[in-house]
Amino acid sequence: MSDGVRTSSCLCGAVQLQLTGEPMIMGLCHCDSCRRWLGAPTHASALWSSDDVVFLAGEDNLTTFKRSPETGSHRKFCMTCGSPVRIDHPTVNFTDIPAVSVNNLEYETMFHTHYAEKFISIRDGRPKFKGFHPMVGGEDEQLPE
Ligand SMILES: [Zn+2]
Ligand SMILES: [Zn+2]
Repeated sequence: MSDGVRTSSCLCGAVQLQLTGEPMIMGLCHCDSCRRWLGAPTHASALWSSDDVVFLAGEDNLTTFKRSPETGSHRKFCMTCGSPVRIDHPTVNFTDIPAVSVNNLEYETMFHTHYAEKFISIRDGRPKFKGFHPMVGGEDEQLPE
């Protein structure tokens, strides 16, 4: 992978982001919130420092959903096409971009999170954390595949 600049966008293209550098971590999240939000069996997550994510277009075309008022996950989606665009974690200054929406990203599953809530099993030999990744405050407890 190169230390380049990438873009990501929603399905209709109204919202465009610029991402600088490489994601800090990439992994599959199996939590109930991600699965329902994306309508998918798991969420391919790529975490950037929020400082490395800027809008190229469409910031005012996003709306925010928080599952609970105290949650640290601010889920932002395009009001035109409904695509998930970013999940902001302001308390840790990380922004999670759905990896499938990032252009020219060489995605690699480094680990799995919230595997206790899994909908599908993935036997890829990667660590299966029970909850959050330890880097963002989770415990180091891992589950069998
Ligand atoms: Zn859109
Ligand atoms: Zn999740």
